[in-house]
Amino acid sequence: MTYADAHCHLGSRQFDQDRDAMIGRMLAADVRKAIIICCSDHDLARGRQMRERYPDFRLAVSIHPQDLEEEHDDTRLTALKQAVLESHADMIGETGLDYYSHPHTREYQQHFFKAQLEMAAELHLPVDIHCRRATKDTIDILKQYPVTGIIHSYSGSAETAREFVKMGYSISFGASVLFPGSRKPAMVIAGMPLDRLLVETDAPFQSPVMNRRHEPADIIAIYEAIARIRGIPLAELERITEENFDRVFENS
Ligand SMILES: [Zn+2]
Repeated sequence: MTYADAHCHLGSRQFDQDRDAMIGRMLAADVRKAIIICCSDHDLARGRQMRERYPDFRLAVSIHPQDLEEEHDDTRLTALKQAVLESHADMIGETGLDYYSHPHTREYQQHFFKAQLEMAAELHLPVDIHCRRATKDTIDILKQYPVTGIIHSYSGSAETAREFVKMGYSISFGASVLFPGSRKPAMVIAGMPLDRLLVETDAPFQSPVMNRRHEPADIIAIYEAIARIRGIPLAELERITEENFDRVFENS
């Protein structure tokens, strides 16, 4: 049995005090595969150490769309490309558009999103996409680049999910499926092709419990909820998502 966390920030400062213990809990829970999202030098340094020790961890590197407040000139892209090459990154991400939390940096977000998609296409790497209240622009921009990958923490409609699937993307669901009355993700999951479905924590963020840090070990609850929605055994969902996880990196 292997659970796969398709999106977690294990290099985050929030894990600096007890990173090894957190990974211990994760492996004890059979969460052996993970995509470690690194959007800062701090996180990337720790992400590289973790991937060296745990070869089933994948490294995703990017400039986050929420991180364009202060620095937004192209030297950041040069530095990113160097970091991607030096770290032998497996993926570019998360990148995308966030008009919800950062509507005022919209133009910079689009510029950095396009540049990172171009980089992914050039280096033959998959991408991990962050999209909040920016569905139309995200789809329009993604269509311009010969890349695929994962739509992370999906919260959109079933119709948009179908569109992303048609474009070749897999869709990853997080703790939102655990909230009482979360009928929308359940409906999307029920109608999804199983071979495009992934599960994630976004740890240390998006904990289902207020004021608590989220961890990859907590992913089992999300898996159980999705297996229930689909009416399949947990072991089957686990097998399918592990294959889906591996397939994301097949062509890179
Ligand atoms: Zn994230």
